Amino acid sequence: MEKIAVFPGSFDPVTLGHESIVLRSLDLFDKIIIAIGKNSGKHTYFSLETRLEFLRTTFASYPKVDVVSFEGLTVDFCRKVNARFILRGLRTSADFEFERGIAQMNKKMHPHIDTVFLLSTPDLTPVNSTIIRDIYRNGGDITQFVPKTIIPLIEKFMQ
Ligand code: ADP
Repeated sequence: MEKIAVFPGSFDPVTLGHESIVLRSLDLFDKIIIAIGKNSGKHTYFSLETRLEFLRTTFASYPKVDVVSFEGLTVDFCRKVNARFILRGLRTSADFEFERGIAQMNKKMHPHIDTVFLLSTPDLTPVNSTIIRDIYRNGGDITQFVPKTIIPLIEKFMQ
């Protein structure tokens, strides 16, 4: 059976932290579906189309990686695409507490789906979309925090 993992998130925008989690999990799974959750209650800075474009550009040379968006519960989306794994990154103990609740509730709802956590690498622990958005909004340079391949897109976006 194919090992399919869904990596859900907002990716507003994709960062080196996200990229690292995906690249490090390439050997663990046959397919990784990066899935942007469309959450009507959550306002995002970058549009869905832009976030999809940033992600698709970042992983264009990795045939194992798909980039999509979805609505509804992550576990329901996993069932739809036959994924047995949810992939998440952990930076801090605060991430752990938050993620533990979600992963255990997901497990209750769908016992066959496991959440797999990868710890952030020490250099990428502070890299965070919220802070990157604040730097960007205030005219700062975010190029050292995002995947190299999307820098031209970000620069185009800034004009
Ligand atoms: P969400 O809106 O679900 O929090 P994010 O786009 O912020 O989504 O993050 C998606 C996933 O990537 C989460 O599991 C988050 O913990 C992980 N992540 C974000 N930044 C990093 C990082 N620097 N290192 C490792 N994992 C990260």
